[in-house]
Amino acid sequence: MSNLHAFRLPGPGLALAYVACAGLPLVLALSQNVAPAARWEYAAAAMGMIALLGMAVQFVTSGRFEAVSGKLGIDKIMGFHKLAASWVALAVVLHPLAYIWPTWAQNPELGWLRLHFYMTDPTYRTGVVALGALVVLIASSVLRDRLPWRYEGWRGVHVVLGLVAVFGGLHHAIAVGRFSAQGPVALLWWGIGAAVLMVMLTLYGWRWVRLHRQPWRLASVTKRADRMWELDIQPAPGTPALPYQAGQFVWMTEGTRRFPLFDHPFSIADSPARAGLSLLIKEAGDFTDHIGALPEGRTIGIDGPYGEFSLQAHDPKSVLLIGGGVGIAPVLGILRDMVARGDKRPVRLAYAVGSEPNFACLDEMRAATRTLDLQLWLTCEDGASAPDILAGRLTQERLRAMLAGLDPAQTKALICGPGPMVVAVSDALLDLGLPMANVIYERFDYATGAKSRQDRVRSRNIMAVGGGVAALVAGFAVLA
Ligand SMILES: Cc1cc2nc3c(=O)[nH]c(=O)nc-3n(C[C@H](O)[C@H](O)[C@H](O)COP(=O)(O)OP(=O)(O)OC[C@H]3O[C@@H](n4cnc5c(N)ncnc54)[C@H](O)[C@@H]3O)c2cc1C
Repeated sequence: MSNLHAFRLPGPGLALAYVACAGLPLVLALSQNVAPAARWEYAAAAMGMIALLGMAVQFVTSGRFEAVSGKLGIDKIMGFHKLAASWVALAVVLHPLAYIWPTWAQNPELGWLRLHFYMTDPTYRTGVVALGALVVLIASSVLRDRLPWRYEGWRGVHVVLGLVAVFGGLHHAIAVGRFSAQGPVALLWWGIGAAVLMVMLTLYGWRWVRLHRQPWRLASVTKRADRMWELDIQPAPGTPALPYQAGQFVWMTEGTRRFPLFDHPFSIADSPARAGLSLLIKEAGDFTDHIGALPEGRTIGIDGPYGEFSLQAHDPKSVLLIGGGVGIAPVLGILRDMVARGDKRPVRLAYAVGSEPNFACLDEMRAATRTLDLQLWLTCEDGASAPDILAGRLTQERLRAMLAGLDPAQTKALICGPGPMVVAVSDALLDLGLPMANVIYERFDYATGAKSRQDRVRSRNIMAVGGGVAALVAGFAVLA
């Protein structure tokens, strides 16, 4: 894992690499001699090839490869994964339609007949299976919250459908592709198939073995707030320590279910200066509901660290740390690390909860004000009983007061909490003069919800990558 961490591509580099990858089969196809065809057919072939490559790339943009997502963080890479899925799906659907379009434009009845032939003739069956798998995969992702499946079940189905789509597509391309049946493009597809298998072996083979060969042990479980537990996890004898930055997260499994499909992401609420790891976990569903009842000594699987939610990744002159609910976990880790290192930077910490029993580790935070240049802003929506707790939400006025005495251009905000809070606080900080690059956030849920201004800029940037891919299709149709 540490070797992978040494190499992390930045966002623009990743965007360029993506467009270059998407263009590779097209460039190779241009070098091949094939029977001449109409421009629409070239466009259809280009969409098929680009969709196939795009499907394969989706396997490494799921947040599990630090070389790909390390510089971006989980929030951005998942945003990319979801938007890229939309243009891959569009290309897959348009691929057969573009073949029949000229026929359909002249004679719709004949066009439908041709489409029916493509959909039912055994020659095209693996392509149709790939298309079907992709449609079900995307529908089950969009409807995930409404499906009566456990998250692990959905995740397993997602992986299997992804494999059916990519290998069905590869077989279809090599069996019937105008450019893909032989020559360098066919070789590329064999290589892509091997690469996807390698990714699967890494994710579910090598990491599975490592979860078993390098186990951790639960040293203690302590209740920190209402339905919130702190787990102290220590490496078992022979397991190496985890080199991480405070604020990063790990994927955790426990007991005999130490298989990567069953793991869950949790931020490290700890400082690397202390041995082992501490996780602050809120009961939220099937896996976390029994977390407080785990017996001491329980075997734990840890895979990580992941993410760029850390001071080291951003190195600000002054810091706003903002946590909402259990989003305090990585913030607490960063604070504990600042205390451990005697960090002298000005730091303002805001901790927002719905009701007072949800506050965790307040005494520890109050104690940190005595050793750090730290101001605490505690807010509770349901009202407050202690003098240092403010009733209500973390409003723009409160954020303005937090920023007093700090230079917004030199200050970076690290925000973690529920989606709506992250959106409101992130937008408010931009209004208060923080540059967008200085507002860093991590959400604990990949589900789509309200978007912050930064989310919209990210979406536009990602769609620009999609635009680059569309330009490749158009260029190929003209040049081929
Ligand atoms: C980067 C990151 C860091 C996180 N850090 C913490 C933390 O420090 N403390 C904490 O209490 N929670 C944290 N979470 C949230 C935590 O992972 C979920 O609450 C937990 O996985 C819920 O699992 P469950 O089976 O108990 O609940 P479920 O009812 O199965 O899931 C509730 C929701 O949690 C999400 N979720 C469930 N399983 C997974 C999974 N395997 N991978 C990704 N998302 C999943 C889904 O959005 C799901 O709708 C973090 C999430 C992310 C993405």
